[in-house]
Amino acid sequence: MLFYDLTYRAYLSRTGSRGGGGGGTTPGREDHTLEHVIEEEEGALSCSNCLYPITRVDEKTAVAGAHEHVFANPEGVIFEIGCFRLAPGCEGVGPSTLEFTWFDGYAWQAVVCRGCMNHIGWFYSGSGGSFYGLILNRLVGM
Ligand SMILES: [Zn+2]
Repeated sequence: MLFYDLTYRAYLSRTGSRGGGGGGTTPGREDHTLEHVIEEEEGALSCSNCLYPITRVDEKTAVAGAHEHVFANPEGVIFEIGCFRLAPGCEGVGPSTLEFTWFDGYAWQAVVCRGCMNHIGWFYSGSGGSFYGLILNRLVGM
């Protein structure tokens, strides 16, 4: 941006158009689109490891009566998860299975962050639809 300003000033002094009309709009305006994108990321929930945007607060949904659930896997590790309709920032790995599922009738598949490939939760699919169960302490921005 600084580079752009300097070139623009050089351009003005060369053409001698400076001082005419006080200069309202400048070509530099287009740079504001960058700030705009950052503002739109408000409400984003990102990977706590690499800050890659995973989902958004407004994708929160309730499954089996609640958004948040606490489960233990067969190894006894406890996970606090939140349910989200969509999570474009993660991708499924491995097979989908009903074995040890935490949600009756929903098969699960592990999902990882697209940014750093860390395990971040599970994708559940069943006859009632599909959703993501994401490990809440692996998300930041809540
Ligand atoms: Zn990540």
